[in-house]
Parts: sequence; C-alpha cells; structure tokens
Amino acid sequence: EPYIPSFVGVNYIEGSNDPKWSSTNFPWTKKLEANNKKVFGNHSFRPNQREVINATMSGYDVFVLMPTGGGKSLTYQLPALICPGVTLVISPLVSLIQDQIMHLLQANIPAAYLSANMEWTEQQEILRELCSDYCKYKLLYVTPEKVAKSDVLLRNLESLNGRGLLARIVIDEAHCVSQWGHDFRPDYKELGILKKKFEKTPVLALTATATASVKEDVVQALGLVDCIVFRQSFNRPNLWYSVIPKTKKCLEDIDKFIKENHFDECGIIYCLSRMDCEKVAEKLQECGHKTAFYHGNMDAAQRSCVQRQWSKDEVNIICATVAFGMGINKPDVRFVIHHSLPKSIEGLPSGVCDYIRVKHMIIQGQAEQSPWTAGCGRNNMKNSDGILEKNTENLLRMVSYSENDVDCRQKDVTESAKQLVELVKLTGQHFSSSHILEVYRGSLSQFVKRHRHESLSLHGAGKHLAKGEASRILRHLVIEDFLAEDVKKSDIYGSVSSVLKVNESKAYNLRSGEQRIVFKHTLSLGKANAKEIFLQRNSDEAVRNLVESVLCWFPSSVKVSKQGKT
Ligand code: ADP
Ligand code: MG
Repeated sequence: EPYIPSFVGVNYIEGSNDPKWSSTNFPWTKKLEANNKKVFGNHSFRPNQREVINATMSGYDVFVLMPTGGGKSLTYQLPALICPGVTLVISPLVSLIQDQIMHLLQANIPAAYLSANMEWTEQQEILRELCSDYCKYKLLYVTPEKVAKSDVLLRNLESLNGRGLLARIVIDEAHCVSQWGHDFRPDYKELGILKKKFEKTPVLALTATATASVKEDVVQALGLVDCIVFRQSFNRPNLWYSVIPKTKKCLEDIDKFIKENHFDECGIIYCLSRMDCEKVAEKLQECGHKTAFYHGNMDAAQRSCVQRQWSKDEVNIICATVAFGMGINKPDVRFVIHHSLPKSIEGLPSGVCDYIRVKHMIIQGQAEQSPWTAGCGRNNMKNSDGILEKNTENLLRMVSYSENDVDCRQKDVTESAKQLVELVKLTGQHFSSSHILEVYRGSLSQFVKRHRHESLSLHGAGKHLAKGEASRILRHLVIEDFLAEDVKKSDIYGSVSSVLKVNESKAYNLRSGEQRIVFKHTLSLGKANAKEIFLQRNSDEAVRNLVESVLCWFPSSVKVSKQGKT
C-alpha cells in the first residue's frame, strides 16, 4: 500500500499480518462472539476488528487505521462491554459523542459523557457515579478539552485507576493530535498526560486518516509504547468522486442532482459559512427536500435536535459546516456535496487567485463522464490500488484545510501590509501582484534587476514571510480595496495579467495607523495558501498529476508548477 510508508524511529509493531491476532483461542473469544451477535446485532467481524480487539484486550497500546464506516467503534465498545471497569473515550465533538451514546443506550450499554457545556450538577452526578464502588457506566466519553482543563476529571480517573477500574483509554479521531492532519486540535496534544498518569492502562488510538507523519505524531504525542499498528486498505470501489464547475445556478444544479440521483436519500452538503448553510438549506427546502442546517452558531439544544431529526430520518439532507459529520454514524448517507471552497476567492478577478478554483465537489454514486473522471481516466479509477483513493482523500483534505476555521490564532500583519502598499507605489503602479511579491521577498531575477527594483528600500523587506503568507496579505489588500487591480494584456506572453494600483484614500488609514490588519491564522498555514501546503506535503507525482487533472478544467485561473511550489 503506497499510502503509508513505514515509521522511522518510532516504536511500533506491525499487527495487520500477524496471525496471532486472528486467533479464536483467546480466553475471551466466546464472550466476544456472543456479545457481538447479541448486543450489537452483528453476524461476524469486519476486517481487522477481531485482531484489534484481541490486541487491545491483551493489554497492548494499539493504533488503528481503518476507513470511515469500517467499524472502529466496535473495537472498543465490545471490549468495554466484556471487561470489568470503565473505558474512557476521548472524542473531539459533542455531536459525535451524543450520536455514540444514543447508539449505546439503544443497545442497553450504560454510557455517559462529560462536556463543558453540561450543567454542573449533571456533571457532578456522573463523577459521583464514577467514584462509587459499583459504577454502572461501561463507557465514559469526554472531549479533549475536559482532559486538558479539568483536574476534577483527572482526580476521578486516578481514583478509578487506583481501584483497578480504568479498563482502557480510547482516543477516537486520533489524527486530531497532529498538526499535519486536516483537523488539528490543540487539546489533543495534551492527551499525552494520560499515558504518563496511567502507564499500565492500554491505549487504543483510532483514525480513518493518517499519513506516515500523522501517525508518527500520534504515537509520539500520546506516548504509546510498543504500539501495535493495524491498517486496512482504503479501496472503496462503490465510491465515486466528481468535480463539477460551480455556476450561478449552483443551487438549482444541486437540487436537480439530488432529485435525479438521490431523491429522498440521505446526504450532507458542506458549506463554508454559517450563512451559506442556512441559505442552501432554505433553498432546498423550497425545492421540496427535507433539509436542515447545522453549524457552530447554534446552541447545543438546537444541534442535538437536528441530529435527532437526522437519525430518525425526519430530515435527510443536512447543510453543515465542518462542525458536523466527523464520525457521525449513519449507515445510509448516499452523497456528500462540498458547496464551496474558501470565501476569499469568491468573486475575485481570476488573476488575483493563484490557487484552486474548484468550487464545487460532488462525491456520489453514478457520476457520468465528469471533469474528474475524464481527468484521471475511468480505468485508472477502476484499477486503482489505493492511489486514486489516496489522491481523492488528499484532495478532500485540502478542501478541509481551506475550510478549517477551528484552530485559529490572530496575527497582526499591518506592517507587511503597509510595506506592500508602499512597494506598489515605489515601483510606479504598473506591475502585477506576482512581481510585487517577488520584489518584496527579495528576488534577484533578471526581471527584477532590469527594472532596478533590487535597489529599492523595500526590496526583500518581506524575506521572512512564506510566499503564501505574503501573497495572502496582498490578496487581502485587493479584496479590501487598499489596492485596486487593472487588467491588462501582458506584452510578453499575450495573456491577460493584472496591474496593481494604490487606492490612496484607503491606504491613508493604513499609513496613519488608524486601521490595522489582523488575520486569523491557522498555525503557520494561511487559508489562502492551502494549495501550496497541499502540494508541498504531497510532493509525489501521482498527487500532483491528479491536482493538475482537476485544474485543467479551470485553466484560466490556476497554475501548478511541476515542482509543486506554486
Ligand atoms: P467508523 O468509526 O470506523 O467510521 P463505525 O464504528 O461508526 O465506523 O461503524 C460504522 C457502521 O458499521 C455502524 O453502523 C456499525 O453498526 C456497523 N458495523 C460495525 N461493525 C460491524 C460488523 N462487524 N458487522 C456489521 N456491521 C458493523
Ligand atoms: Mg468513528
């Protein structure tokens, strides 16, 4: 499997091909099989489920890589049921936890969760139960914030552990530990404390998305010891991806697409903003679909209401931000539509945005000849042994890079913004944004020299910035009208290019210090350079080819360099 190169320097043991773990002679095998049928209603185990359960019940730390829908939950819920004590499950989203608890309670498995937005009395009741000698809960779910911030919880876990009743620690969606993943959550980093405090308690880390670097991060950050790794092929022949250009009548297209292909079936439409969620939901409702929206601005009650409606099939289409969906257990989701990429590229002249304009991804069942399949070849898709899967997953990951507005911190870029405006002026207001960026970042190209720009005081002033960062600031200046763009025929290549001019009245406020420019900053990743990061991290040929095959449908607006640097 080309997807996951092996670890370097990390302590782990490959478990997938070790027959030991498939054995049906473990002391717990009979109980396992009986409960799988009786309580969970499963007639057999899915690939790797038995193996993972045997390894974790043997007391090892285990890392599981299994596709979404592969059945990761069972690998800890079943052991939780048949082992004495309580299994602690760390899961990133309350929505996700509620969904799990609902299923557990339906199966008569006592489970509870603690989260910061619960009534304190309710939390205390659960904590009290944990301290009692006959704690009824088999599973306790918490969000990572709880572990990082609640001493009370840690004390209770210590008490459980002291009485030998902390059966297992499960880290669901474990890729959230890693900054290389698409969904990094700082609180996940703190979870290393668990292995330090509860050295002997087996840890089970689960994820559907882990590249080698993510996996290393997870194993290291969690402090897993002699960890056994199970991985499973991500080939899913019944899954189709397609990319469709987004037009003004996008909502009509979506309506038509659903009616023609998935009428009355379940699906999720991911939107960028909260407003988009509501707008799309309203429009589809008007078209006769049973639709609801779901985003971070809703309170807990509203959210769980939507989730309930969705579980009961009272609504079958959810328009949601990325807050929804990770790990949501709904076996009959038939389509996922990505309605938009970052807002900052909407409505910009094409010269401004040097990155992907694929605005509308549709993942679904029977897409006919589409940009996507045409680009990479249908046969290629059929015969793919993981490569296309990897590509499409990476592409989706790129989308979520751009959409991830969860872990942002602020960054003041006023100084750089001032300098860029000044530089546009200094160079006489007849150069393109890419040239301005070159000069700003200290390029010594012939072109820069020919125009004597290397002698300007601001030549190289932005050396310390990554190209993506600098270009993001520049883009922002255009969007916010500090700079204006004139479109010109370029004399050299005959293609259209743009020339930056200073909008004096706006720029005045910037110079005077009256206006500051602050970016939400996802670690070192600006939203705008999602593609750059994507290509750097996925520098192999296959991925770049794929990106290019998508981009060839949007040639006027995108450039990808063979070095994967642009
Ligand atoms: P994951 O967490 O890997 O995305 P889940 O644990 O949510 O997947 O399981 C996905 C679906 O598969 C659930 O509906 C679950 O009931 C079902 N499932 C899991 N294991 C089995 C099994 N051995 N046999 C049949 N169905 C299963
Ligand atoms: Mg899951």
